Amino acid sequence: MIEGRCITCGRGLAEEGCVQFPCPECGYIIKRCNICRSQAAEYKCPECGFEGP
Ligand SMILES: [Zn+2]
Ligand SMILES: [Zn+2]
Repeated sequence: MIEGRCITCGRGLAEEGCVQFPCPECGYIIKRCNICRSQAAEYKCPECGFEGP
């Protein structure tokens, strides 16, 4: 389980399959839920504006 919320949809991250990883541009920790991950939803880093799959 990861603390915090999905950066894309705002869901909690209690489900299995949730991930967190540093932004490739600035290192901000990006958190995504299993649903957005499985749908390959786009995300946008709130720190630097980087967008990625
Ligand atoms: Zn999500
Ligand atoms: Zn960033």
